[in-house]
Amino acid sequence: MAGHDIVDLLVVGGGVNGAGILRDAVGRGLTGILVEQGDLAGATSSASTKLVHGGLRYLEYYEFRLVRAALAEREVLLANAPHIIWPLRFVLPHEASLRPAWMIRLGLLLYDHLGGRRRLPGSHGVDLRRDPAGVPLKPSLTKGFVYSDCWVEDSRLVVLNALDAAERGATVLTRTRCVAARRAGGVWEATVEDSGTGRRRSLRARALVNATGPWAASFVQAALGLDWGHRLRLIKGSHIVVPRLYDGEHAYILQNVDRRIVFAIPYETDYTLIGTTDVPFDGDLGAVRISPAEIGYLCEVINRHFRRTVASADVVWSYAGVRPLYDDEAVDAAAVTRDYALELDAAGGAPPLLSVLGGKITTYRRLAGQVLDKLRPHFPAAGPAWTHAAPLPGGDLPDADFDRFLRELRARKPWLPAALARRYARAYGTRVERLLGTAAALHDLGAEIGPGLYEAELEYLRRHEWAIDAEDVLWRRSKLGLHMPEAARRRVADWFDGAAAPRGREATAS
Ligand SMILES: Cc1cc2nc3c(=O)[nH]c(=O)nc-3n(C[C@H](O)[C@H](O)[C@H](O)COP(=O)(O)OP(=O)(O)OC[C@H]3O[C@@H](n4cnc5c(N)ncnc54)[C@H](O)[C@@H]3O)c2cc1C
Repeated sequence: MAGHDIVDLLVVGGGVNGAGILRDAVGRGLTGILVEQGDLAGATSSASTKLVHGGLRYLEYYEFRLVRAALAEREVLLANAPHIIWPLRFVLPHEASLRPAWMIRLGLLLYDHLGGRRRLPGSHGVDLRRDPAGVPLKPSLTKGFVYSDCWVEDSRLVVLNALDAAERGATVLTRTRCVAARRAGGVWEATVEDSGTGRRRSLRARALVNATGPWAASFVQAALGLDWGHRLRLIKGSHIVVPRLYDGEHAYILQNVDRRIVFAIPYETDYTLIGTTDVPFDGDLGAVRISPAEIGYLCEVINRHFRRTVASADVVWSYAGVRPLYDDEAVDAAAVTRDYALELDAAGGAPPLLSVLGGKITTYRRLAGQVLDKLRPHFPAAGPAWTHAAPLPGGDLPDADFDRFLRELRARKPWLPAALARRYARAYGTRVERLLGTAAALHDLGAEIGPGLYEAELEYLRRHEWAIDAEDVLWRRSKLGLHMPEAARRRVADWFDGAAAPRGREATAS
């Protein structure tokens, strides 16, 4: 891409929204560049609870429009990315003092019927004294409800959107920050800086998309020098990971006495993921951490419900992110709407600036479609909406049936150890063939740099998925960091240090 070329869209921010918008745009025939200051999904989009969900609790705030749209999205996303998204059953122990049973039944009835459910099973009541789901819980919890939502590998969702966009002709620049942009000569002229070398260059685009998530306000004010007339509330949410708390593949949704809810979810085979919190945030967005008080809060909710107790010493990993929420002036952080707003600034025929405020992982595809609809007057030749039935890279599993795909993979590659075959199938879907290439035995995958991490995968991630260092691989493209001792993690870092220079920050997939 030459510096003097003008593209249709410059998307700033490589979270789920930026990547989704870029993908949608290039699929409609527009040209686009995305710049991300860190790694793809380096911020909020890898710090979520990882649910593609309608949001049962949002019904309490009468968010019917949001819940209906999000519920419908579950099935669309599940069909298009069945490798990284899968159904999850949730057990909700009933606590009469917090919410009456009729209220939960009504909520679940709406949840079952609002969003046109087809593939996911419906909800029902459960006797926790008899059902295996009751075994790990305190004996005082005798009744409960079971319902469905989906799990998503959030950071992989972002990378796969970027990958699809790149394969359709977009340019994705990671470790590249947009430091300034202004309107000049009927286009946007942006200055971007390579965070590794500090080198700056300019890019020109017909429209600018501000998909900087929690940075949205500061980006407009500091980089664009414009007034920010909208409201964004920054609310931190944190998660802890502990050794597996209970058997079974289901999750729990726990009601806390402050009326918030906390999830306990099976995680990475050996662990349980617990979250989240809602804490107003005004610190440095580049250094968001869980606090001891949040760890204490999450442990307390678990200890009120489970027979086994957890304490901060059990926490093997934690992460925190900042929700960029569209401010609806709710008093309570948990009550602020999870819906999004799109603000278009194109007064007087000026080159458009479109800012994304808020949103969820779940609704990113819908949001992207609406961004393109809003920009349509500026790009009349853009094609129609198309992502509804378009698999993400690797998501074209026959009949969207993951179990069958895994069985067939194992039959084709009997030399792949079962756990590795499963992990590859989940992470890469049908793209596993590209990773494996002509390999016919495990040793063809090269050296084992860390347990279960062979050079062929590192090479694939470096060449096709913008992985530049060990963190990108161990904590975002995968969660192998959780399973690896420090020495192995260092070997991964050494591999990147020793590997030939990446194909470039401009690497587009091929
Ligand atoms: C604790 C928590 C739990 C959540 N759970 C769920 C859930 O279960 N399900 C769900 O659907 N949603 C969930 N969400 C919401 C969801 O994670 C976010 O709404 C979503 O990830 C926001 O994506 P984004 O692309 O707008 O922002 P981000 O992912 O933050 O992406 C913005 C990107 O812009 C980059 N950037 C900023 N400034 C610049 C610049 N000047 N130049 C270049 N790049 C820049 C940043 O580095 C960042 O990567 C949760 C959020 C949190 C915090």
